[in-house]
Amino acid sequence: MTPRATDRSRDDREEREDRAAGVLLGAACGDALGVPYEFAARLPEDRVPEMVGGGLGPYAPGEYSDDTQMAVCIAETLRDHGEPCSDLALEQTARAFLRWRREGASDIGAQTAQVLGGTERALAAEGAGAGAAETMAGLSARMFGSGQRCAGNGSLMRTAPLALAHLDDPRGLAESARLYSLLTHGDPLAAQACVLWCEAVRQAVVHGTYEGLHAGLDLLESGARDTWAGHLAEAENAPPGSFAPNGFVVRALQAAWSAIVHTPVEAGSPDRYTAPVQAAVRAGDDTDTVAAIAGALVGARWGRSSVPQGYLDAVHGWPGYRADGLAGLAGEILRRHGG
Ligand SMILES: [Mg+2]
Repeated sequence: MTPRATDRSRDDREEREDRAAGVLLGAACGDALGVPYEFAARLPEDRVPEMVGGGLGPYAPGEYSDDTQMAVCIAETLRDHGEPCSDLALEQTARAFLRWRREGASDIGAQTAQVLGGTERALAAEGAGAGAAETMAGLSARMFGSGQRCAGNGSLMRTAPLALAHLDDPRGLAESARLYSLLTHGDPLAAQACVLWCEAVRQAVVHGTYEGLHAGLDLLESGARDTWAGHLAEAENAPPGSFAPNGFVVRALQAAWSAIVHTPVEAGSPDRYTAPVQAAVRAGDDTDTVAAIAGALVGARWGRSSVPQGYLDAVHGWPGYRADGLAGLAGEILRRHGG
């Protein structure tokens, strides 16, 4: 190997690690940036959102919310397990969700609250030997089967870290995205949204492009592809505010994608992270979740180095992470999964 080739591969590796860290940091900073404005009046176009805290928590300035808290539960599982789809890995995540609900949940979505609460009660009744993941997914499936609305944005907001465990395996990533969505959201629409966004994040980390979202259509069940192609086209043809209210997972994905495609930025631009993520906050309604979803993808494309130092200094949250800890967690996932 020539010295030049060695330098090149080290540069590629550092770039990939920067983008991987950008997934968790991009989501966490988007979340914390959207927290103060969740379900409040939509910000005007000339207003710059700030990490001032408040919101539903209420949160400290820079503190991230349930979106990143739950993403951390998944990320720590990926750090600890080599097979994300294994029963052991899903069990760790399900147990982490339950612990988070007891100890860390500063706010919690209605669908997730119902499933986690029902799982706690079922486990208490069944005894210590019962599987939390199986109980949780079973309850979610029954809720969907009974006709309840189960396609909130609560699984999409947390699944981006899965991409870091499958950087060279899109089909494995799609399977993981489905399983981790189905833990709490029995509607296949939520799982499909997770498949698409995870593939977008994966390709953004690996290739530095946004092409993975459309490419991800091939990973969906054949009957869902045209429907989702239509949803993406709608997002590309209307501003992000058009998709509020965005508690429904399709609307949340559309709002995040619309914010990205309607905020073109140059590769070297200092606002390549902030401009699209601030646009996601201005979409209104579930601002922290839309900005967390958008932030994961924007951070994946442009990396940790695109996130302003002021955001990195401020961002923090349960169970005690700050920016360096989140970046370190992303790095550990890469090393565990050969990324
Ligand atoms: Mg939240």
